[in-house]
Amino acid sequence: VDVELLELVAGGRVAILTGAGISTGSGIPDYRGPSSLARRSSGPITYQEFVAGAQARQRYWARSHIGWQALRHALPNDGHFAVADLQAGGLVAGVITQNVDGLHQAGGARDVIELHGSISKVICLSCGEVTERSELAERLGAVNPSWQRETFDLKPDGDADIEDVSGFHVVDCLACGGLLKPDVVFFGETVPAPRVARSFALVEEAKSLLVLGSSLKVMSGYRFVLHAKKLGIPIGIVNQGPTRGDAHADVLVDAELSSTLRSTALALG
Ligand SMILES: [Zn+2]
Repeated sequence: VDVELLELVAGGRVAILTGAGISTGSGIPDYRGPSSLARRSSGPITYQEFVAGAQARQRYWARSHIGWQALRHALPNDGHFAVADLQAGGLVAGVITQNVDGLHQAGGARDVIELHGSISKVICLSCGEVTERSELAERLGAVNPSWQRETFDLKPDGDADIEDVSGFHVVDCLACGGLLKPDVVFFGETVPAPRVARSFALVEEAKSLLVLGSSLKVMSGYRFVLHAKKLGIPIGIVNQGPTRGDAHADVLVDAELSSTLRSTALALG
C-alpha cells in the first residue's frame, strides 16, 4: 500500500478520473498503452470520416459489430470494484470516466459521468433519437448472418481488428432513416458542454483529484488536471507508465492498477 495515496484518499471528497488503464484487466486493451503501441497502424476513426463516407461507416460498423459481441460480455475487475467500494465508503465526490464500456456502473459505482459517452447506446444523427445498442446488434446480426464473433483483437472503443469488411450491411434509424452512430465522442468531436461543465464542477468541489489508468494524452481528460492544479487541489495519479500529468502530481504511483486500488480500498474499508 502506498502511504501517500492512502492519505490522499482517506482525506475524502475525492474526484476520480479514470481511463482505459482501469479496463485492461477486463480484457479491453489500452491502445495508447505501451503493450499495444506498435501493433496498430491506423488510428481510430474520426467524426469527420464517419459522417463523410459510406465506406468509412461500413468499416466502422463491421468492426464495431464484431467487437460488441465480445465487449458486451466484459466484466468489471478489482479496479472498478475498489472505486465502487471507496464511493460506498463515502470517500468519493464523484467519478468521471473516459471509458465508454460501462464497467464502472457494472461494478457498482453510482452517478458516473461518462465523458466520452456510452458504447451501449446509439444515436441518430438526423432525429437525435437514442436507442439501445443491443437492439441495433440484433438488427445488424439479422442482415449480416455470417458475421459471427470469432477471435479478434479488441480496441477500447469496442472495435474489432478486421481488414476486409466488404459485404457488411449497415442499417439506418428505424424512426427516420437517418445515419446511426454509437453515442460516443469520436476523435474530431467535442464533448457536450453540459457534461464538461458537470465535470469541472465536480473537480471544483473536490478535496483532491485522483487519476486512475489514464496517460492523459487527450485534452478532454487532461484539462481537469490543469484545472485542479490551478485551484491548488492536490492531484494523485496511479498509472502503469508515465503520463502527461506527472509533473503536476502530488502523489504519483506507477503500478498495476487493480491490485493497487484493491489494497488501498481494503486498507480504508
Ligand atoms: Zn432518426
